[in-house]
Amino acid sequence: MRVLLVEDDRMIGDSLRESLRAEGYAVDWVRDAEAAVAATGTERFDLLLLDLGLPRAGGLEVLRTLRARGDATPVIVLTARDGPGDRVAGLDAGADDYLVKPFDLDELLARMRALLRRHAGRAAPLLRHGGVTLDPATHQVTLQGRPVLLSAREYAVLELLLQRPGAVLSRAQIEDRLYGWGEEIESNAVSVYVHQLRKKLGADFIRSMRGVGYFLAPGGDAG
Ligand code: CA
Repeated sequence: MRVLLVEDDRMIGDSLRESLRAEGYAVDWVRDAEAAVAATGTERFDLLLLDLGLPRAGGLEVLRTLRARGDATPVIVLTARDGPGDRVAGLDAGADDYLVKPFDLDELLARMRALLRRHAGRAAPLLRHGGVTLDPATHQVTLQGRPVLLSAREYAVLELLLQRPGAVLSRAQIEDRLYGWGEEIESNAVSVYVHQLRKKLGADFIRSMRGVGYFLAPGGDAG
């Protein structure tokens, strides 16, 4: 999952980026409204964390620009302002949720998961397919009820595929969700992760469509 963090405070930005990366998110960080508007114009993010108090144009401007473009990317507003007026303005400008600084990291992570779930049209917190269950809150993966140990990247690839069980994802699409700007991508990394996942979840669990990409074997959520 790829997150754009819009935050001008270096300390908050640094610590949030580290914490989110540790949770397996690919994080791109920009420090002002112009950069945020530019980034969202060229890249697709799964979620935006948007500070309202930015230098020059504020976060509300970013939000209005985004929504005016028809961009429905989920947005959580992070704000030091805690007057009800600011929260109302944020929500009315198109934010999906807000947190007042200082906030609890666990609460932010839970709100991010809830928002991503709602945005994907899913009510259940667990992702299931063909005997495999993934819990985004604990990062626990099981196969037929037995725990499976995955690396952070293997987990991220599996989560992507489980989010859209019917879809074929190209290598480029997977790389795009897995890596932030400036992160080195090994040319065959995705096929290595898929290979590992097949070893752990069964050779048939992830299918390849030659020259197109990867998809989950049909099998519904039985098991
Ligand atoms: Ca700020």
